[in-house]
Amino acid sequence: MGTALVTGASAGLGLEFAWQLATARHDVVLVARDEERLTRLARQLEAAAGVRAEVLPADLTVPEDVERVAERLRTDERPVGLLVNNAGLGLNQHFVEGDLDAELRALDLMVRSVMVLSHAAAGAMVARGRGAILNVGSVAGLIASGTYSAHKAWVRTFTEALAVELKDTGVTATVVCPGFTHTEFHERGRIDTAHYPEIGWLQAEDVVATALADVRRGVVISTPSLRYKAASALLRVAPRSAVRAFGGYRRALLDEAIEGRDGA
Ligand code: NAP
Repeated sequence: MGTALVTGASAGLGLEFAWQLATARHDVVLVARDEERLTRLARQLEAAAGVRAEVLPADLTVPEDVERVAERLRTDERPVGLLVNNAGLGLNQHFVEGDLDAELRALDLMVRSVMVLSHAAAGAMVARGRGAILNVGSVAGLIASGTYSAHKAWVRTFTEALAVELKDTGVTATVVCPGFTHTEFHERGRIDTAHYPEIGWLQAEDVVATALADVRRGVVISTPSLRYKAASALLRVAPRSAVRAFGGYRRALLDEAIEGRDGA
């Protein structure tokens, strides 16, 4: 896979991707907004794993920044063999009364940037006859819980379509669909996790190890852990009315969380 470019490398799953890839002797390109965190990480990776770590600060809601990252993916100097589209966030607001600008930024980050970067990477990789694209989706893409579900459903369908198009080119596309994972995601999104069942939680280390193993095997849909494999299989066959009812339950929990947050 050569050099790997990871978006959202400053925290959570992206940070873990950077560590596991560097430990497997891949040079890395680290993308996120927080340049200080990325620079610290790059130094640690270089010292601990002896790889080359480039820092590419970018706000992936800003088209010019996305284009700079796309340019890095197109270049043949130290070519990127693996793109990990990982950056993302949880909005924790209802759509109707929520802030539309925040919604549009989330769409830019989790849909638009994934499309632009995949386009840049796939073009360059097909020309070289090898490479891999790994998009981070979510099990939430199978339910109906806010625009986040819609974005992650897009990531999943888009990746499958990309995999179909890339067949026999030497380039693969994989979407990893984790469930709740211990990262900074919920704290940053001010998402109350008190009611989340303990059994639902995954470790970033396991999610990333599964995703990278599946990329190496050319798996298209990667679902870390047996329990989420079972839950995803159930959600795929469940009547959509039941899936929407579950979305309604999540909506009620969000109501409570917003009330608690705004009242605090
Ligand atoms: P996290 O710990 O909050 O990390 C999010 C990363 O995204 C950070 O590195 C952040 O870096 C970066 N990021 C956020 N906004 C950005 C922007 N505008 N431009 C560039 N980078 C940006 O969250 P995580 O859990 O690791 O999330 C990673 C991915 O996993 C996301 O796509 C998320 O939807 C998905 N996921 C998470 C869970 C979960 O339970 N944690 C479950 C399923 C799927 P900066 O702040 O430095 O920019």
